Amino acid sequence: MKKILIATGFVALIVGFFLLDLDQLLTLQAVKEGQSGFAGLRASMPLLVAGAFFALYVVVTALSLPGAAIMTLAGGALFGLATGTVLISFASSIGATLAFLTSRFLLRDSVQRRFGDRLKPINEGMQRDGAFYLFTLRLVPVFPFFLVNLLVGLTPIRTRTYYWVSQLGMLPGTLVYVNAGTQLARLDSLGGILSPGLLGSFVLLGLFPWIARFIGRVLQRRRVYARWQRPATYDRNLVVIGAGAAGLVSAYIAATVKAKVTLVEAHRMGGDCLNYGCVPSKALIRSAKLAHQIRHAYRYGLKAVVPAFSFGSVMARIQDVIRAIAPHDSVERYTRLGVDVVQGHARIVDPWTVEIARDDGGTQRLTTRSIVIATGAAPFVPPLPGLTDTGYVTSDTLWEKFANLDEVPKRLVVLGGGPIGCELAQSFARLGASVTQVEMAPRLLGHEDDEVAALVRARLEADGVRVLTAHKAVRCESGVEKVLVVEQGGVETRIEFDELLCAVGRVPRLQGFGLEELGIPTARTVVTNEYLETLYPNILAAGDVAGPYQFTHVASHQAWYASVNALFGHLRRFKVDYSVIPWTTFTDPEVARVGLSELEARERRIAYEVTRYGIDDLDRAIVDNAVDGFVKVLTVPGKDKILGVTIVGEHAGDLLAEFVLAMKQGLGLNRILGTIHTYPTLSEANKYAAGEWRRAHAPRRLLQWVGRYHAWRLK
Ligand SMILES: Cc1cc2nc3c(=O)[nH]c(=O)nc-3n(C[C@H](O)[C@H](O)[C@H](O)COP(=O)(O)OP(=O)(O)OC[C@H]3O[C@@H](n4cnc5c(N)ncnc54)[C@H](O)[C@@H]3O)c2cc1C
Repeated sequence: MKKILIATGFVALIVGFFLLDLDQLLTLQAVKEGQSGFAGLRASMPLLVAGAFFALYVVVTALSLPGAAIMTLAGGALFGLATGTVLISFASSIGATLAFLTSRFLLRDSVQRRFGDRLKPINEGMQRDGAFYLFTLRLVPVFPFFLVNLLVGLTPIRTRTYYWVSQLGMLPGTLVYVNAGTQLARLDSLGGILSPGLLGSFVLLGLFPWIARFIGRVLQRRRVYARWQRPATYDRNLVVIGAGAAGLVSAYIAATVKAKVTLVEAHRMGGDCLNYGCVPSKALIRSAKLAHQIRHAYRYGLKAVVPAFSFGSVMARIQDVIRAIAPHDSVERYTRLGVDVVQGHARIVDPWTVEIARDDGGTQRLTTRSIVIATGAAPFVPPLPGLTDTGYVTSDTLWEKFANLDEVPKRLVVLGGGPIGCELAQSFARLGASVTQVEMAPRLLGHEDDEVAALVRARLEADGVRVLTAHKAVRCESGVEKVLVVEQGGVETRIEFDELLCAVGRVPRLQGFGLEELGIPTARTVVTNEYLETLYPNILAAGDVAGPYQFTHVASHQAWYASVNALFGHLRRFKVDYSVIPWTTFTDPEVARVGLSELEARERRIAYEVTRYGIDDLDRAIVDNAVDGFVKVLTVPGKDKILGVTIVGEHAGDLLAEFVLAMKQGLGLNRILGTIHTYPTLSEANKYAAGEWRRAHAPRRLLQWVGRYHAWRLK
């Protein structure tokens, strides 16, 4: 309402200005004619005239009325070069800032909502370099003054920055115009004020900050490297530290483009995903799901039984699975591909030298043009009093420790309600453990929508998991029993356990391999730019250590950018593209997502429309007794453009691929609807979701006419 009132007032003032023909007063001719009269007035009441002129200038510029250039000339004619410049410089900057604020207040939210993520690069660019852009726009007076105010108001630049950069940037142009105004009598038109030469000088002046910044960056790079002695020659084009997903793919790409590359791994080839993460957890999930299906065999017309199994065999199978996949990531395979694989601990000694403490006891130093850091992340263990005494497992230690157990732990506490916590809590519950899952946040899977979290919670509880959300773990106690004490609203609850699994997040490995000594900045992750370069452009990072995502497929995706930029960055660099990132939580049912969730769209104030298809309606899901779930698609209102998709259901991770492709290739739901999906498959859920969207956007009026046409044909 407030916005409407202000907008109406704004428009009324502008319309009034033209209706009263006030624009006729702001012409060169009118100013020339009134010059002697104004000069007389100014001589008798100098302060009042200066004040009135200042106020009028502010109003004209704030309302984006035409005539600011003429007023600037008039200012020169009336007040002379010095006073005129001071008055106009402040008045124009204040007026510009008011116009900027008006545009921001009236339009910014709706424009940002309307265009959503498409404005992200502009927003980020303005946040980072807004002052530079604005300075250039202000210095070159060919960019219309009012347009700059209105457009820049839509961006996130700070008001204070806007004011001072505008004042500084407009000063040369103001000087030129005010100076021309002092010679008003000799001026025939506005066109003559800016000669091509003068305009060229302004353009050069406008480019100056960019040139200065470029030189500054070159100098900064030099400064960064200044304290190090560059080697005369290099042993390698690239050294990659860490042989997880990010490191393996980086080395693979380097070898493919015939670079001389060394890959260093301190522990096990394949990194966390193969040895402690994705692979063992998915193998466990599979066994647990089978146990669950046996227990619920009556749902398929079979006799339900309590599954008989040895926990040791389940854990042994996990190691078998790891062994079966390990050759894909092995030293032998990568050596065959042309990678020099060294097993040992790497440390960056200087920007071009890596020292390796080899597993065989030797030490090796390699000079290299570039380095990719791919050291991954390790489980975070919270500083919970008593935890070390009671003991705990993490994803790093769980597989080995539990492999020695004959039976599944009777009472298991899972700390953490994220994807890893949920996957493991459900699996161990299905294998017979009495599981209590503790999460500090109000709900599980905090990154997903409420309904998703609620559905997963319901399924975990149906599997016997006791889910305690909004509960904070405060301490562990060890006596006759091991106890975790949790607290909610001041009330403490004691949970007795046999094993405690810590799954509260993973922290990047940042220490012990030279980052500190080289002064490479780190925050939660290694700090990199959009090319994945660290402070030293020849040292790059990829995978969990670089963030912001912690997924194997993102690590591989980043590895392409890191290795290509490391090897060819001096010719051309590529910004890492995070526009379409999918992921899946492998609970039963699975939760798969790409792009925006409703939660995120609301937080980022992006307008969206929801189309939902319930999988309980799908033939194949009914056949398979897998009816829990849905496909939820967010689209731009009124447009066939997908913003995000969440699928909950059996094989949701596989089903998502179609939407990932669609989003990546800019295809809409009509294209999915027009694609044949095999019957009866779960993938038809995607097509039916697209069908729901189509139905909601059917051309109703046209269909009414078509109905009439058919009725007429019956006659
Ligand atoms: C239980 C669990 C389940 C998961 N499930 C999934 C899933 O289903 N899907 C998914 O996409 N992601 C999953 N993840 C995440 C996935 O495992 C990681 O995102 C992925 O492993 C990251 O790869 P990376 O190359 O960055 O690091 P890592 O795989 O951690 O590899 C880093 C390697 O660097 C080595 N290293 C470290 N320092 C040095 C040094 N100084 N010298 C030499 N070597 C060094 C380490 O030994 C390690 O092998 C899961 C993780 C866990 C823990």
